Amino acid sequence: MNFIEKLFSKNKIDCPRCLGKGEVDWNDIKRLNKELKWGPGKCAYCNGSGKIKSNFESKVSVDTTYLTSDLNKKERNRVINKDEKALLRGILFEKNADNFIKQVKYLNKKGNLTKEEITEFYLIPENEMSNEEKDELMDYIKRIIEFDKNQT
Ligand SMILES: [Zn+2]
Repeated sequence: MNFIEKLFSKNKIDCPRCLGKGEVDWNDIKRLNKELKWGPGKCAYCNGSGKIKSNFESKVSVDTTYLTSDLNKKERNRVINKDEKALLRGILFEKNADNFIKQVKYLNKKGNLTKEEITEFYLIPENEMSNEEKDELMDYIKRIIEFDKNQT
């Protein structure tokens, strides 16, 4: 490492979300207990660089569910800078995800519905969904049911 590199990497540490890879994989997702909230892909915490400034973690927690690569640059910056409305959107996002997971578990356990029937249920108000989106929804519902089974 030459002097310039050293200078610029000063105060930078390995990203605690992706452990410096720049990509989040299932091991990272499991470690942070986000199996039903995140998928593998570019790390939104370090923005794919694998490194963060050492004071970054004091700004935004590594397991902030809302901080995913789905956010655009502006929203990401708002979250990092603790913009009140963005934080509120984050809380709502997490709440909606938790509610959906609870509903799927209820329909499966109490309602004895299969993953296909639960998918059909959620498709009632969705006329515009593509087949790809439907498959994605069913896959997510399947993961919720299987995750729940593995927990008990
Ligand atoms: Zn990262």
